[in-house]
Amino acid sequence: MPTLFQKIMAGEILAEIIYEDEWVVAFKDISPQAPFHVLLVPREPIVDLSQAADKDSAMLGRLFIAARNIARKEPSAAGGFRLVLNNGKAAGQEVPHLHVHMLAGREMGWPPG
Ligand code: AMP
Repeated sequence: MPTLFQKIMAGEILAEIIYEDEWVVAFKDISPQAPFHVLLVPREPIVDLSQAADKDSAMLGRLFIAARNIARKEPSAAGGFRLVLNNGKAAGQEVPHLHVHMLAGREMGWPPG
């Protein structure tokens, strides 16, 4: 069964894609928690970080490279941005396809909720 995010990447479910490269696709979150809120999703449908293998290190690194590339072009990220990875139910993960939230455009509190 394809994940929700695979369906978005396949164009079967509409989303506003703002970035893509060989490894990663990024699109606007449907329920934004900041003025700028996108999800960075690896094309490979790994369930979560816990299930990533050592061989996935390039893909994991490319998630950060994608965030860097987006930040370089996104004006609201100039003053700072936050990356969040929810791993597992207790952390609030809802979609079983590894993804990183990228948020910007407002002051961020600490600790996160
Ligand atoms: P998580 O709780 O870390 O698994 O994050 C899943 C995120 O996916 C949430 O922030 C949702 O708002 C977002 N989301 C769910 N459905 C869609 C969709 N169709 N398009 C874009 N984002 C979505």
